[in-house]
Formats: sequence, C-alpha cells, structure tokens
Amino acid sequence: MREKLKHLGIELPLLPTTTVGSFPKPQYLLEARRKFDSGQLGADEFRRLEENATREWVSAQEEIGLDVLVDGEMYRGDMATYFANNLDGFRISGLVRSYGNRYYRKPIIAGEVRWRGPIIVDWWQFTQDLTKKPVKGMVTGPYTMMDWSFNEYYPSRRDACLALAEALHEEVKALAKAGAKIIQVDEPAISARPEELPEFAVEAMEIVTKGVDAYFINHICYGAFEFIYPGMLELPVDNFDLEMSNSELDLIELLRGHPFTKDLSFGVVDVHSHIVEDTATVEQRIRRALEVLKPEQLWIDPDCGLKTRTREEAIGKLCVMIDAAKKVRKSLGLGIP
Ligand SMILES: [Zn+2]
Repeated sequence: MREKLKHLGIELPLLPTTTVGSFPKPQYLLEARRKFDSGQLGADEFRRLEENATREWVSAQEEIGLDVLVDGEMYRGDMATYFANNLDGFRISGLVRSYGNRYYRKPIIAGEVRWRGPIIVDWWQFTQDLTKKPVKGMVTGPYTMMDWSFNEYYPSRRDACLALAEALHEEVKALAKAGAKIIQVDEPAISARPEELPEFAVEAMEIVTKGVDAYFINHICYGAFEFIYPGMLELPVDNFDLEMSNSELDLIELLRGHPFTKDLSFGVVDVHSHIVEDTATVEQRIRRALEVLKPEQLWIDPDCGLKTRTREEAIGKLCVMIDAAKKVRKSLGLGIP
C-alpha cells in the first residue's frame, strides 16, 4: 500500500508511527465543558479552549516525533454520540450504561439518517494548518454507529447501517475534498455479530469509501478477531489498526494461519494500563509483528485512544513507542528519518 501513499503525495518512513485518535483532555477543558453545559460559558469561549487544547496536543505530538498526527478529539465526548448529534435522524437518550463503568447518552435513530453538513472537517483543517506532518481525518464507522444506537426507524440493522454508511460517505468525501489523505474509520463494534460482517458490514464500508482517493485505515479494538478473521480482509480499506498488546499479541497466531494482505497498524502499548512499558518490551512486540508482516506493511501505534490515561502516561507511552520503533528501524537497516 506504500504505492498508494506515494500516489497521494505522502512520504513516510518504514514503520510509520501514529496514534489512534484521542488524547486526555486538560483539566481546564473539563471544567470549561461543565460550565458550558450549565450555561456559564459561551460557545465562542468554549471553542477557543478546545482549540487551545488541540494546539497543545499537536505540539506534543511533534515533540514526541510521531509521523502521522491526530487532532486529539478535544471537541468530542462519546465517539458515537458526537456523530449522532451532527447527523439528521437522531435524538439522544438519557445516560445508559455500557461495558464496564462507561456511561453515555445513547443515540436513537428516530428518522431518516442524513448528512446535514461537515462534522469534523473544520477540526481536521484546524489541526492540519498547525503542522507539516499529515493529519488523519477520523470518523466513527456506520456499523458501530448502528450497533451503539437504538433503532426506532429502520426495519432492520442492515437498513440502518447502510443509511449511516451513505451519510458518512458524504463526510468522508468532504474530508478528502478539504485535503485529508489519510482517513480512519473507527469500527470498534465490528465483531459484535460476526455473521453481519459478510451480510452487510463489508457493503457498508464499500459505500463509505467508494470513489474517495484516500488511504483508509479501519480501527478495530477489543474485537473477537477469531470470528472475523480472515473475513475482515474483505473490508475495502488499506490498513487495519488493531489492538494487540492488551491481548498479549494472541492475534499473531491468527495471522500465521492466514497471511495478512493489508497494512497493519499494530498496537504496541496497552492503553488500559497506567504502567508505561519499557522500550525493550515494546521493541519485542514490534519484532513479533515482523514475524508475520513485511516491514512495508507495518505501522506502529498504541492499542486504542489514550484519552483515559493521564497526559504524563500518554506521552510516556508514546516516547517509549518512538524509541522502540527507531531501534527496530536501525537494526533492520531501515534508517532513521
Ligand atoms: Zn479503539
């Protein structure tokens, strides 16, 4: 897939480093959100603080030395609710408990789902204007939006998912038009019902990506990969971004059984643990990945978004990741950019 990146004008070193998307929000932004919600802070002032926090994370990513940057999602609460709030056809429920102790306002599909205008394009643009490094555009995928919403309108999960795919296709087109060359579609729920992958999840991703000239990454975490691999390779994306470290790299055995035909962003640090891994551990994980992947296929990143870690833990983990990637590049004679 390096030819595709080249065609898009993106030059990356081998074993490019990136992150999945979210970073921890600074205290001042959490306080501002509370004030904004209770009407004590105006929208303009709140937006200024979100921009400030985004700027801080762009500087941090540049200092750390990541190759592909993200906006850090300072403006988002829940990844599904955020998009639901900005699409027609949804209303939002009261607080619902999902896995673990996560509470969120569950979206309800109450009418025809439609794209009413750009959702994250301005945040992508704001971030890209701050850096010369490529910034990923990131959207929550149609299958996850469908699976995490109550559906009161469409006759089936398939109909709801495909309608969401059409709406998100408009967002992806708008991102590409603005200049985003790397677009990530987040689908943490994609293995929720493995039989639906061939039934309509692949079709939904085809709708999202069709005719858009960009390098597509599909982020999947906490998936039951044993039920969707190798079928998931049918999804029309260039790169799968997978959680590996939290599961002790079990997936490697699956990849041994059936060769991986796409690029893989390999999660080398566990985002659920407070402990910052040491360089040797992360280096070892990268070497394990290279047992089943060619260096040209491999990207290096954390398992998932880092929003639940402290700023120090997030930066600590990323610095170790960069260090380990450099060591492996050097030992393979791949050079350091
Ligand atoms: Zn994730």
